[in-house]
Amino acid sequence: MLVTISQIVIGTADLAAAFLFLFGLQRMSSPATAPSGIRVAGLGMVAAVLASFFYLASVSPAAQPHVMVNLALALVALAIGGAGAWFVGRRVTMTAMPQMVAIYNGMGGGAAGSIAAVELFGGHTQGATQLVVTLLGGLIGAISLSGSVIAWAKLDGVLKVPLRVRGQQYVNGAVFLAAIAVAGLVVASVLGVDGLLLTTPQWIWVFFACALLFGVLMTLPIGGADMPVVISIYNAFTGLAVGLEGFVLQNPALMIAGMVVGAAGLLLTMIMAKAMNRSIANVLFTNFGTVAKARPGAITGTERATDASDAAIKMRYAGKVIIVPGYGLAAAHAQQKLFEFVKLLVAAKVMVRFAIHPVAGRMPGQMDVLLAEAGVPYDMIFQLDDINDDFAGTDVALVIGANDVVNPAARSDKASPIYGMPILNADKAAQVYVIKRGQGKGYSGIVNALFYAPNCNMVYGDAQAVLVQMIEAIRGLGAAAA
Ligand code: NDP
Repeated sequence: MLVTISQIVIGTADLAAAFLFLFGLQRMSSPATAPSGIRVAGLGMVAAVLASFFYLASVSPAAQPHVMVNLALALVALAIGGAGAWFVGRRVTMTAMPQMVAIYNGMGGGAAGSIAAVELFGGHTQGATQLVVTLLGGLIGAISLSGSVIAWAKLDGVLKVPLRVRGQQYVNGAVFLAAIAVAGLVVASVLGVDGLLLTTPQWIWVFFACALLFGVLMTLPIGGADMPVVISIYNAFTGLAVGLEGFVLQNPALMIAGMVVGAAGLLLTMIMAKAMNRSIANVLFTNFGTVAKARPGAITGTERATDASDAAIKMRYAGKVIIVPGYGLAAAHAQQKLFEFVKLLVAAKVMVRFAIHPVAGRMPGQMDVLLAEAGVPYDMIFQLDDINDDFAGTDVALVIGANDVVNPAARSDKASPIYGMPILNADKAAQVYVIKRGQGKGYSGIVNALFYAPNCNMVYGDAQAVLVQMIEAIRGLGAAAA
């Protein structure tokens, strides 16, 4: 068999893409190497796009009539997509990252669904196996597309309340079964069975409509606090769909990228579910994440406020301080001021460490990225399991814009929706200071017993403004001593 130059170029580019994806992913496992990991994986994507481009350019319409070749259109699509992503990527704020991830994820699912649609409507599938794989990829891709759009709308605040009706799970189950049944009818129709009520293209439309509807129905009832897990599940779905369509097109770059994304999405889903002490089924089919109703009498007492300067001076003379950052730190863009404050404490010989909860903020790893952006050294940053036992021997826990991730109800209140979720043991420190603007609840809408504890004082205000006051208080001490 004669191997052409274009086949060698395409094969090499595919291999390079696969290697770069895996190498990039491996580098993303540590905050120190993650930025270069992103660049390496991006290069892999360039190699994969080039491979597809060479493939299109080398296709002979006579030999492969089912492959549509329109290089000009492909270039226009690449230019629009690339410019749009560049523009959005540069403008997006740290707090809006989850929405962006959700929508990009949906686009991946949509792309896989589109490949399936082109193959099905164009009648390009050859044989029952290819047909079934195409339909499976189309089903998963379409669910991921519409589900991710709903996830985006929820995270962005466009859709504010989870929409849940009695018997919803039965409706969802019926729509899913309908999609599978219609897929069977598409197969029968394509294979030439007569008397199926509708024509093949009509069945294909019904099939995609059922799949898209299922994605919407499945996501609507899930509460906001569970959205990261849901996005991660859709991420795995998208990868699977892309991998399946890669098989249909016999495109190795698509197959590899799909498998990598699918496996990474699945692992991330499992890690996040474990961090919340929940099963994936529990995330998808229960009420958690809907705004919890206040239970009268569940928590008694009042929150006690203190001044920023008093809290700062207490920390200046403490031996050990652990800082727990949360969503409010990102919302206030206060990471630079926080590190400025920490450097003053470290200069005064205070041992300062950061404790990161796996679902702090609104995106996995968001706190690590924020702190890295401010220049906090990695050896000051500890994950939950590595630091949780140390709170008990710590003088001060400083909670900044975090709420759910330090809520002791998760340990003790069996009626709480977050019961069983591992939390950071900030309440075990000798003294706790909580910086937040007021009485606002956390993402899950639950009252936090920590704020009423005898060893806890609230420092009310925007995190950035409070940290500026804390920095001034410590500098003031230095000036007074001089
Ligand atoms: P929470 O959402 O529980 O709490 C954040 C707190 O920050 C609020 O109580 C708010 O109180 C305070 N806050 C908001 N803005 C400011 C500001 N400018 N300055 C100071 N404080 C501010 O955050 P956590 O990080 O503790 O927990 C994350 C929650 O989000 C979990 O429930 C998690 O499941 C969920 N989630 C996580 C995702 C992830 O992947 N990490 C994604 C989506 C949801 P106040 O209004 O009084 O200021």
